[in-house]
Order: sequence, then structure tokens, then C-alpha cells
Amino acid sequence: MSIFPFFRKPQIKKNQTRLSGMSKSTRWDSEDSESKQLPIYQHRNKLTQAVKNSPFLVVTGETGSGKTTQLPQYLHRAGFCKYGKIAITQPRRVAAITVAQRVAQEMRCPLGREVGYQVRFDDCTSQDTVVKYMTDGCLLREVLADPGLSQYSVVILDEIHERSLNTDILLGLLKKIFSNPAKATKGRAFPLKVVVMSATLESDKLSSFLGDCPVFAIPGRTFPVTCTFGSAIGPKDIESTAYVKEVVKMAFDVHTSEVAGDILVFLTGQSEIERACDLLFEKAETVDYRFDVQDPTVEGLLILPLYGSMPTDQQRQIFQPPPPGIRKCVVATNIAATSLTINGIKYIIDSGFVKQLNHNSRVGMDILEVVPISKSEAQQRAGRAGRISAGKCFRIYTKEFWEKSMPEYTIPEIQRTSLTAVVLTLKCLGVNDVISFPYLDRPEERFILEALKQLYQFDAIDRRGRVTQLGELMVEFPLHPGLTRSLLKAASLGCQDLLLPVAAMLSVENIFIRPGRPEKQKEADKKHRGLATRVGSMNDFATLLSIFQSCKSSDRPSAWCKENWIHWRALKSAFSVETQLREILLRLQQVQNFPVETFDGNKSELLRQCLCTGYFTNVARRSMGKVFCTMDGHGSMVHIHPSSSLFDQEAELNWVIFHDVLVTSRVYIRTVCPIRYEWVKDLLPKLHEVDVYELSSVAREEVTDKEMKKWETREAAKRQPGF
Ligand code: ADP
Ligand code: MG
Repeated sequence: MSIFPFFRKPQIKKNQTRLSGMSKSTRWDSEDSESKQLPIYQHRNKLTQAVKNSPFLVVTGETGSGKTTQLPQYLHRAGFCKYGKIAITQPRRVAAITVAQRVAQEMRCPLGREVGYQVRFDDCTSQDTVVKYMTDGCLLREVLADPGLSQYSVVILDEIHERSLNTDILLGLLKKIFSNPAKATKGRAFPLKVVVMSATLESDKLSSFLGDCPVFAIPGRTFPVTCTFGSAIGPKDIESTAYVKEVVKMAFDVHTSEVAGDILVFLTGQSEIERACDLLFEKAETVDYRFDVQDPTVEGLLILPLYGSMPTDQQRQIFQPPPPGIRKCVVATNIAATSLTINGIKYIIDSGFVKQLNHNSRVGMDILEVVPISKSEAQQRAGRAGRISAGKCFRIYTKEFWEKSMPEYTIPEIQRTSLTAVVLTLKCLGVNDVISFPYLDRPEERFILEALKQLYQFDAIDRRGRVTQLGELMVEFPLHPGLTRSLLKAASLGCQDLLLPVAAMLSVENIFIRPGRPEKQKEADKKHRGLATRVGSMNDFATLLSIFQSCKSSDRPSAWCKENWIHWRALKSAFSVETQLREILLRLQQVQNFPVETFDGNKSELLRQCLCTGYFTNVARRSMGKVFCTMDGHGSMVHIHPSSSLFDQEAELNWVIFHDVLVTSRVYIRTVCPIRYEWVKDLLPKLHEVDVYELSSVAREEVTDKEMKKWETREAAKRQPGF
């Protein structure tokens, strides 16, 4: 694997050292004066006043105007924290973490004291924390525990234009809970203030959604950006990966032919970014700076990747100005479009693609896929070049691609992904009628019904759409309901030690290292295969469990990881996630009546049988040769992914369950485990028997009491004993 950042000349490293060696006070002073230059600064008094005056406020302003980093500080200085903490939500965990770091620096306090952050499985706050950056998912969990949000004086929903699922749900919930003045002040000395921040001009829609609340628009200063279209990517290239090479070519051209100024490249995900950085570095190494570069002040190229699962110290580097004479080139995911602002960018290279979670009707599941961005997204990307002076945006795709393949706007996540987890959250909050919940943009009813159906299949709700005891337990876990279902099954059988590590390993980033060089790749593949065979019978879930246990019991776990081509950082997170999941389980076992079941099967089958309880929705049966057919009613034809230990063993298999799907020209199933038909025989009818209209509140009244009684008795009998 390549090591970043790349420097062209060794002496530049010295410059870097000198930069990072600057005395702290100088850095703070420069930060102070930097924040005074931001467009929001002149409006600070009016802004705090506006927050004071109204229960809801919409704030809009160009990306980089200082909303995320500055407004919470103004509110803190204006004394809002006397009445409670200030929460600022972010859809992305990286944004929550890096922004909190920056604000802690600006407020001159160690991170985790007055300023802290909380993201899933990582809480960096203390009793002193009053300015708390957090992911929208974390705040949603807090609403569940305390719907009045009594610890907070202000809640800021940030990046609302991203339209993430959790932010949209929070928006509806806060409207529902706090539009009623009596509720908003109940038990509080100071009514909660809700601020909604957006980088785009959807302010009218937001304001009318929040009862025509006031809008504060921060006037922006932007410079013109000239955009050019390329000739490489046309409407026919949607499935090709040619865009990686093309952005590299374009970035290199800009480096050699344009005047000084930093470059920001928009790509899709970690592997594409790392590949592009490798290629660009190779090219940059060939430059003779005496002849090949137009601007004589440009003497080197600093290449920096930026994606969500990168270590935070590396992420911090991208904000630092490059050494004199060095052009910085950041190769990023969409995170750099609005969540994070990198100063000094003059050139944008836009690949035209983004990796997005979409509900795939072909396989009936949510999958991450590479899709063309929307035109509004492309404009947002281009805009990042015009913050300090006039900029240029190089789109590698053709005008025809823009016209034919790119939609006008990005569809909000709520209208394109699974709603299972949020519907359960809403139900647990007492929102029974999830169809008429106030959504900023209503999801299609069939998506809501699909979520209800899944919850029913996992026994989280009953046939009348009411949350069951199991559902109340499930909502406590920040995991996919299916995985939680398996975990709770294991807990009732007393074998949670098998499932907790598996759940943790499936919740962290990819643990397997995939080196770029073919010979190294072979070596890594061999090690990974060795880890899989150690388990005995081939089973990818068991392999994860075995890696977790072997590493944990090793005397030198990081060396163990290195030797086995496993990401030590990912495993460390898995250890921490496992502990946290165990704590949640223990807490629930202390306060709830946990059923106890006995297991009369073969012990070696225990893990697989527990998995079946939550993964029976992901069952496939071999139909012919290497082709499997899913059993969820979609009947999709799927193949085992080459990364699975069961790849090439298909002939010996009949029934399997899988964790997720990857769609390319084929549909691949990943993290696979062989099962026996008997284990899912009683569960599979659940995939088809339920009438979704019966589950939704609209149809609930139509179920007669007599029918209900009959059904309840039957269900109760089925559930005895345990889950
Ligand atoms: P907005 O929320 O309006 O998009 P921000 O508050 O995120 O604006 O950004 C304001 C300024 O703070 C930008 O110039 C940005 O570069 C800077 N900034 C934000 N986060 C960091 C960080 N972690 N390190 C250095 N500078 C940062
Ligand atoms: Mg922001």
C-alpha cells in the first residue's frame, strides 16, 4: 500500500516540519483572525438575537461562510449554555469529528472538555461538554431516551441540504414535539431553540415546514468559476471505471499547465481514491520542473486522500496550508462538497460520480452503488473553487452526459433507502401512524410498508403495528434490526459471546488489507484463506469471529494483524464496538425480563442458527451451477463474491445466508454462511404471509378484536419460551 502524503522533493519535508513546529500561540492568533474574516462574523449579534427570538430559525449561507464552526461559539459566548448544552448534528461522522477538533482549537480547550463530539461507538465528551458536535443518528437515539431533549438549550440541525435520512426524521420529530408551546417549555426554564442550517436556498420550503419561522440568510461572497466539459465520459460510460484514470490525467494537466493554486478532485470512494493517488504520484514523479510546468513558482505536488474511514490525524493534514511552492491536490469523496471546506482551492476536477446508498429493487436491498451526481451537486462541487478568487472547474464528462445522465436534483435519502430502523425508532417514540408523520419530503408509501413488513418479520412489531417487547429491546442497539435480532437470539441462548464479536466486526470498516501490487495481493489472499480454513467448516461469519478472538488473545495484536494482512485500526475499533454492544446488552438484561431458551442442536451449529433468526430475509438457495436464487419474493439470481471463503465451493452448497450484496454486471452476495433448510423452514413463510396493509396504521382499525385475540393467542404460543 502506498504511503501518503507524497512529496516530490525531500527538502519539502523540512518545510512541513517547520510548519507543524509553529508555536501554539501563533497558530491560535492566526485562527482568531481567520475566523473574523468569515462572512458570518459581521452578523454574529443579529444571529444570536434571532436564535433568542424564535423557537425555530432557518440559517442559510454559502458553504465555508462559517455556519458550522462559528455559530455554536457565538451562542456559547452569548450565554446560551447557562440553560443547557448546544448540540450540532452532522450527517457524516468525519465532519462531526474534524469540526469539533477545529472548534476546540479555536476555543482553546482540549477536545472532549467544553467542546466534544459523539458519533456511533465513539463518545468524546465529558461532564464539562457544552458544545457537542454529533451525528444525526446519535441525536435521534437521545430523543428516544429523552424526547424533551432536556439537557439542551439549542439544537442545531446542520447540513440539512444533504437530506440525510436521520436529519429528515429529526426535523419532523422536532417539529412535532416543539411546535406546541406547552410541550416546548414543559419542565424547562428556557424553551428549546431549534436552528436549521442549510447551504442551499431551500429556505422557503424549510421555513414553511417549520410554521413560517424566520430565515436568516448570510450574504455570501463568491467569485466566478468557469466550468468546462470533457470528452472522456459520455452517457454510455455509466458502468465503466474509466473516470479514475481520467481525473488523474486532468489533475496532472492542471498541475503542469495552470498557475499556482490548489486542486480538489471529487471521486467516489476509498479504493478509487487510493488508486488515483498512486497513479497521480507516478505521473508527478516524471515532471521536470525546469521545463514541464508553466508556472515557475510551482515546485512540487502534495497529494492527499480524503475519505470517511481515514484516520483522523491524516484528515487533519488536509486543512494545513501546503509548504511554499508546493501545490496541494486533495482527492476526496463527496465529503468535501459541503461538509468540509478546504481553504486555498482554485481548481476542481469533477468525476461526475458519487457512491450512494440506494434501495435496489432488483435485489430488494439497500446497496452502495456508483451513480452520476445531480446537476445541483455538480454546481455545488464547482462552487468550491470560487471561495478566495476566480476558479476553474474541469468536468471530465461530456455536455451530453450532463444533459442525459444527470438528474436535476439529488433525491433525498428518505426516498431511496430502507426505513426499517427509523420506523422502529418512530414507533418506539409513540408515533404509531408512521404514514402521516410530518416528512419534509414524503417517502413512497411502499417503502414505509416494506419497513413495517421487515419489522414484523423480525418480531419487532405485532400484526397491529404495535412495538413488541423484543422491538423495545432492538431499538436500543445501533445496528441493523436483522443483526440485532440474531444477537438477541444468541443472548437468550446464553451464547452472546459468539454474536457480539460478529456484530462488532460487521459494524466497522473493511478489516482485510488489499494491497495494490499483484504479488503482495497474492500473499494477502493466501493469508486470508488461511484464516478462513482455520475455522473448520467454511463460513465467513465464523471467520470474522475467529479473527477477532485470535487477535484479541494475541500477545502482540498489532503484529498479528500485520502478519495476517488485517487492518489493526479496524480491529481496534471492533474491540471497542464489541465492549459497547456488550454494555448495552448487560444494561438491558438487568432491567428487562430476558427470556431464557435452551438449545438442543449441535453446538457447532449454534452460531449459524442464531444468524438465521435475523438473516432469514437474506436466504439464497443454489439453483444451478454456481447460481443462487434468493427466497425473499424477488427471486434474484446471485453469485458468491470472490472475497468469500465459499467462492469456488458452490457445488457443495445448497442453502446459504449472506450479509450484503454488491451489484456490478452481476449480483454478488458477500459474507456468506451455509445453513440447513430446517433452520429457516419455519421462518421463511414469514416472508410472504404478512399483509402489509394490516400492519400500517391506516388499516389497523379494520382488524376486528376477535381476529386480534385469536392472532395474539397464536403468537403468544409460538413465542414460548423466549424469542
Ligand atoms: P460552513 O459551515 O458555513 O460551510 P465552516 O464553519 O465549516 O463553514 O467553515 C468555516 C472555515 O473554517 C472554513 O474556512 C474552513 O476551511 C475552516 N475549517 C473548518 N474546519 C476546519 C478544520 N478542521 N481545520 C482547519 N480549518 C477548518
Ligand atoms: Mg457547515
